[in-house]
Amino acid sequence: MTPPKGIPEKLKIGGLTYDVILVEDRNFEHAKTNTGSCNSAYQKIWLEYGKRKIDGLKDDLLHEILEAIIRHADIDINHQILTTLGSMLNQVLRDNRLVFFEDEEGGVPCQKPQEEERR
Ligand SMILES: [Zn+2]
Repeated sequence: MTPPKGIPEKLKIGGLTYDVILVEDRNFEHAKTNTGSCNSAYQKIWLEYGKRKIDGLKDDLLHEILEAIIRHADIDINHQILTTLGSMLNQVLRDNRLVFFEDEEGGVPCQKPQEEERR
């Protein structure tokens, strides 16, 4: 099974570059039963993609990004709250088709800053 498109290979989080590693079957390859994990000490995020839909993968990716952020910032947050925040954020981004910073590459631009009027 070929890895899905739309998941970045690298992500900068808190000034550090994380590798996003797509794994077809985490249980088979790493003896893990979850679909995603994050190691902030080694700046790696693993995501399982086999037999999964892209929306679930993106949900996991946002979750792991939040995990990296809270570890980086040393914030103590309940895991269920983190999971809910990640899912809700994913929903808002998806429902509004939000793509930031990509207007040069063909993504949907956000509202452009108004040019200042000259006097
Ligand atoms: Zn988690």
